Amino acid sequence: MRFLFKMALFFRFVRLLNIFVYVLILTCYNEVTLWIERKISMLLDLLIIGAGPTGIFASFYAGMKGLKAVLIESQNYVGGQMTALYKDKPVYDIPGKKGVIAQQFIDDLMKQYEVYHEEVPLITKCEANAIKKTDFGYIVSTNLQDFETKSVLICSGSGSFEPKLLDVPGSEHPKVIYHVEDVKLMKDKDVLILGGGDSALDFGMLLEKYGAHTKILHRREHFRAHETSIQTYEKLGHILKPYQVLSILEEQKKLNVHIEHAETKETSVIVTDYVLVNYGFSLKSSFYQAWGLDMKGKELVVSSTMETSEKGIYAVGNAVTYKGKTKNILSGLGEVSTAISEISKMIYPHKIPVYSSMMGEKENKENKL
Ligand SMILES: Cc1cc2nc3c(=O)[nH]c(=O)nc-3n(C[C@H](O)[C@H](O)[C@H](O)COP(=O)(O)OP(=O)(O)OC[C@H]3O[C@@H](n4cnc5c(N)ncnc54)[C@H](O)[C@@H]3O)c2cc1C
Repeated sequence: MRFLFKMALFFRFVRLLNIFVYVLILTCYNEVTLWIERKISMLLDLLIIGAGPTGIFASFYAGMKGLKAVLIESQNYVGGQMTALYKDKPVYDIPGKKGVIAQQFIDDLMKQYEVYHEEVPLITKCEANAIKKTDFGYIVSTNLQDFETKSVLICSGSGSFEPKLLDVPGSEHPKVIYHVEDVKLMKDKDVLILGGGDSALDFGMLLEKYGAHTKILHRREHFRAHETSIQTYEKLGHILKPYQVLSILEEQKKLNVHIEHAETKETSVIVTDYVLVNYGFSLKSSFYQAWGLDMKGKELVVSSTMETSEKGIYAVGNAVTYKGKTKNILSGLGEVSTAISEISKMIYPHKIPVYSSMMGEKENKENKL
């Protein structure tokens, strides 16, 4: 009798234990599911690397498709090659934009993107340097922070354009600059601009407009610039040519720039507040190979949906190659539409794609168009 009673107690205990274990497993399962859901909801839908024409347009398109995205750019300016290499040149082969000036086109793209700058923020001086696969998507590491994202769109062209450096004793002084962060702060300052292209003259005219006193020093006799720009600048500032910089020394809070005439070898000193170097840009190529993606030459191999060899990583523009690829703005922008539509389908498979013109008033308002 006592034995039977003990057995009954034992079975009751086992049953209770079973229920306890079952409840524990269920709770753990719910907790894990919640954790995964929370983790996934914290991820970006998309990280866009590079703010050239394709990256800016991709950011607008991602915003319009309701994707939670971030646009990163390694430089402190946007526009890619169009801004770095030929910002004042007219471009003739963009539909409906006859002879548009390159920088104007970038400004127009930025205006179009601007409505989504909260949903798709832009972070400049942020260079992607590694992509790692995770259980939920990817971690993209940059010099500023890591981004966890479900997908990646590479719009980084052939790489980033770094300013060519002045390499003389003293050139590492913080007042030897390559870009003007805020032109207003240059009011009443003496600025010696080094360079012989349109960009140096443009900077000269801009800084004069904001009350700076500028000189442009060029190492050759002839400028690589529009004659009208040279004439306009000559009325405002002072041109020194052909001279080269020998060294820079700080004295009484001013920079003493030692220069030498290229032919007579006569030396002299210019006293200035800032030296603005404008020697153009050199290409720092990206490291797609190190990211483990299939390449052909220096370009990424993509499928007809613009997906690279890695699922969830897409690429467009000058960064890619495929049969029939043309490296121009028009084809890059078309590729953006394909890539973003594919990414949107992958992340939100139940969303029905519609033409922007057919979105209706409600959607247009929601989409800020
Ligand atoms: C002189 C010249 C004239 C041209 N004229 C024309 C023309 O008339 N018509 C035409 O259609 N095309 C023209 N092109 C080609 C056109 O400019 C390119 O096809 C276009 O700029 C490619 O755009 P993209 O966005 O793919 O790359 P890019 O313009 O190269 O932009 C890439 C961006 O990514 C950034 N980046 C790179 N690596 C990283 C990283 N690791 N992390 C973060 N950011 C990064 C770069 O800094 C850059 O801003 C011309 C090109 C040149 C050089």
